[in-house]
Amino acid sequence: MEELALIIDLFKNTERQGPGSQSDTLRALSFMSLPKDRKIHIADIGCGTGGQTLSLVKHTNSQISAVDLFPEFLDVLNENANQLELADNIRTINASMDALPFESESLDIIWSEGAIYNMGFEAGVKNWNAYLKKGGYLAVSEITWITNSRPKEIEDFWNKEYPEIAIASNKIKVLEENGFSLVGSFFLPEESWIQNYYTPLETKFQAFLNRHDNSSLAKKIVDDHTKEKELYLKFKSYYSYGFYIAKKE
Ligand code: SAH
Repeated sequence: MEELALIIDLFKNTERQGPGSQSDTLRALSFMSLPKDRKIHIADIGCGTGGQTLSLVKHTNSQISAVDLFPEFLDVLNENANQLELADNIRTINASMDALPFESESLDIIWSEGAIYNMGFEAGVKNWNAYLKKGGYLAVSEITWITNSRPKEIEDFWNKEYPEIAIASNKIKVLEENGFSLVGSFFLPEESWIQNYYTPLETKFQAFLNRHDNSSLAKKIVDDHTKEKELYLKFKSYYSYGFYIAKKE
């Protein structure tokens, strides 16, 4: 099995595929002033198995288009939505975030947790703007430096993994230069990384390794994620996900 298929197999059994939590989702939502007299249309981009999609559908009067590149994740979301009797308000769409199947100015909110890095923050902000109605909102979480200077070890790691990592003022500038004004932002707290992401992921490692006969590739994936967590614990005062909530001008 190739590495991508293995990663999908590991992550489709988890509630979240990146750091975050229901309280972060609701905190981001709290910055928006939304119409009460009609159903709004939200697109949740890079929804994964839909942890945040389910929080959003429960706490808004909305129709949600949940988009992901991998149908395996969308299958899990559909199953969970059916079980919770929320499926009427969620439509899953298998598409890539750089070619979204929406009409221009048709969305009230574009939501994206831990996913915009796949096309790059600036490219995503520029590309997605067109799909939002004027006055609509973008809510996006993106890996961000907390401090202006960092130890070389973590600087080198992130510059290799994701060279677009920057401090929050830089991310806000990108939003402002592309037709948005910021209405709120915050950093994800440690528990959104540890209790909500790394710890539940770790509970899946043994069964995952068993399923794949301890293959060297499966072991490498477990190893990479273990190292990533150790790095987080060592350098958590220098980076987190920033959550940015911005309004289209
Ligand atoms: N929002 C979820 C998942 C974040 S992980 C959460 O916070 O738990 C990033 C997600 O982006 C994964 O589900 C991955 O399948 C998806 N993804 C990666 N590349 C993509 C692309 N080009 N278009 C759409 N989704 C993509």
